[in-house]
Amino acid sequence: MILKWIENKEKNKLMDELSTFIDNLIGERDSFAEKLRNFKKDEEISKLLKENENLRINSLHTLSEKEREEADAFREEHWKKCKGNTSFLLTGASIGTRVEVICSKCKTQKDITDISVW
Ligand SMILES: [Zn+2]
Repeated sequence: MILKWIENKEKNKLMDELSTFIDNLIGERDSFAEKLRNFKKDEEISKLLKENENLRINSLHTLSEKEREEADAFREEHWKKCKGNTSFLLTGASIGTRVEVICSKCKTQKDITDISVW
């Protein structure tokens, strides 16, 4: 009788320990999963920042939304009207870049500079 009681007590103790051990494992697993997620996010962000910096340094000029819309409209207009291609003339001014579009056929030149981004 006493032996049975001791056996059960030990069994219960072992079960408790096992349960705690499993809980700890689950906690560790969740913590590693979270770390992995954050690690990938940081890596991704730093990759994108580097790419963005490369684009900024290596581009002659990045059109503003307004400049792009005007350039698109000019390109479309002259493609329809005279099948001309559009050239861009970028002129470095002291505080920004002047942007002009030129039709290869009729030679129309239009200043589309958006000085709101200077
Ligand atoms: Zn034209």
